[in-house]
Amino acid sequence: MTIDTADLKRMFDTIAVAIEADKDRLCQLDGVIGDADHGIAMALGFNAVRDALASLDLAVTEPTVLLNTAAKSFLNAVGASSGPLYATAFMRAGAAVKGKAALADADFIALFQAMAQGIKDRGKAEPGEKTMVDAWQPAAEAAAAASVAGKTLAQCLEAALAAAERGAEATKDMIAAKGRSSRLGERSLGHIDPGAASAVTAIGAMRKGLASDL
Ligand code: ADP
Ligand code: MG
Repeated sequence: MTIDTADLKRMFDTIAVAIEADKDRLCQLDGVIGDADHGIAMALGFNAVRDALASLDLAVTEPTVLLNTAAKSFLNAVGASSGPLYATAFMRAGAAVKGKAALADADFIALFQAMAQGIKDRGKAEPGEKTMVDAWQPAAEAAAAASVAGKTLAQCLEAALAAAERGAEATKDMIAAKGRSSRLGERSLGHIDPGAASAVTAIGAMRKGLASDL
């Protein structure tokens, strides 16, 4: 199966719905080790993306343009640190599929890996520092490994979701070393990182949003 701009738009719409539904929990998680705005920030960002994509003429829009539109609208809507992190993820995703009218499974895996790498490059966080990287990096690695093993895209995204869930859960035992919660030092122990939690929601929605195609 190939993924075109209409499929990508549906994927973003699905993320917006999932994040909106998860908004309060994400704010609560951020309230414990941050400033309680993560759900609001993510919902603002993905709702802005949905609105921006709704005005595109999909018949004449390439995946890269859609992804760059998503990046711009997310960045403009979000003042919190998740803004530039996800904006970079979408921009890198766009660059990874530049010139393609539709995406084969391997292209989508490349897109997914580029998102994780973009977040890592932008925030300069390494795994173990209790950030969304602790969900995104294992998710990207699991997706790539499943792809190399010849799995379908649906199976790759399932593996990515499972790895993201494990990664987010593992942030409980980490001391925050990047971002706002790093000020808490050891007091950040015992709590899930909100950005890792929202990454699980977003990745789950990506899988669900593309599912009818896979
Ligand atoms: P803010 O901290 O500005 O209020 P948000 O609440 O929207 O921003 O997002 C907080 C999340 O951002 C954290 O839980 C963490 O996952 C992520 N984060 C913060 N700094 C970084 C970084 N340097 N690299 C990767 N992720 C980061
Ligand atoms: Mg916050």
